[in-house]
Amino acid sequence: MIDKVGTCAINPVANLPVALEEFPRPAGSRKVLVVGGGPAGMQAAITAADRGHQVTLVEKAAALGGILRFTDTDACKEDLRNFKDLLVYEVGRRSVKVRLNTEATPSTIAQEKPDVVILALGSVPAVPPIKGIEHALHVLAVYEAGCPLGQRVVMVGGGLAGCETALHLAKTGHEVTIVEMLDRLAAESYGMYREALLLEMERVGIKMLTEARCVEITPAGVWVESARAAQEGAGADQKGSGEQLGRHWLEADSVVYALGMRPCEASELKKAAGAIPCVEIGDCVRPGRVEAAIREGFLAAMNIL
Ligand SMILES: Cc1cc2nc3c(=O)[nH]c(=O)nc-3n(C[C@H](O)[C@H](O)[C@H](O)COP(=O)(O)OP(=O)(O)OC[C@H]3O[C@@H](n4cnc5c(N)ncnc54)[C@H](O)[C@@H]3O)c2cc1C
Repeated sequence: MIDKVGTCAINPVANLPVALEEFPRPAGSRKVLVVGGGPAGMQAAITAADRGHQVTLVEKAAALGGILRFTDTDACKEDLRNFKDLLVYEVGRRSVKVRLNTEATPSTIAQEKPDVVILALGSVPAVPPIKGIEHALHVLAVYEAGCPLGQRVVMVGGGLAGCETALHLAKTGHEVTIVEMLDRLAAESYGMYREALLLEMERVGIKMLTEARCVEITPAGVWVESARAAQEGAGADQKGSGEQLGRHWLEADSVVYALGMRPCEASELKKAAGAIPCVEIGDCVRPGRVEAAIREGFLAAMNIL
């Protein structure tokens, strides 16, 4: 259980509800298999190694970092990139056996014969049932090398991930319009950060359409249902013009969607663990933020006795 008041995204012991001395010492050195090298898995590996366990960290990608690898490219996330790099460094300077380019399967568990398995598999994009979604890119694809992104971008989804990526795109020369069905952008954010984010988005010229629902994506743009889109100059089709709520056309060279993530499937690995203690942490439990991933990674390792 994460205490939201006064916790820290990068320091798992900040305001821990339990004093560190109250954690029992491990009875011996255990073989720990950590699957997934995102922030949750890296923190679990670091803490488990510090507690004297023998840790193997298996990551299917070519580098550690998980989702946070997008910060290598993002124009505004230097602090998060530094933190990701710090975690990679801290893993590297411990006796953690890191196996990159290795997707853990049930046979990995059989071969490793660990005493404990920690699953930190992360999440995958939720693909919404919008007509033509196959013409759109997921927000994480934007950060991949060689991503074919055009000049005019419509971002479908104005939550925090959509807004922050829109800002990155605007700062790297794209003309961006955000389409959000709620009446509020970055709704899961609050306070000064949200205010500053919205001001910066306005400053760099991002167009923001709230209360606008994307109903169809085509290779040339998106159709949205919105009363406000008409007032703000989006083209309207026959049906939409003159109506309160109609279908309105937004032209785009690329469409990107940021409509949430869903947990990775862990059931096969859990089944393969059988009687071996197996714990899931981070986004593969529920997609969230770095803070929860770090805290859960730390606690999972502290609880190996
Ligand atoms: C666009 C976007 C922007 C975000 N920005 C922020 C932000 O600014 N601040 C913030 O706090 N949070 C942010 N988040 C959320 C944050 O990135 C996640 O909460 C965090 O990365 C979760 O960490 P994790 O280790 O649980 O999962 P992940 O980071 O997803 O890592 C999971 C790792 O497991 C690996 N893996 C999966 N299956 C296997 C397998 N079978 N074998 C081996 N390896 C496997 C994957 O390759 C991956 O590297 C953002 C998320 C998104 C999508």
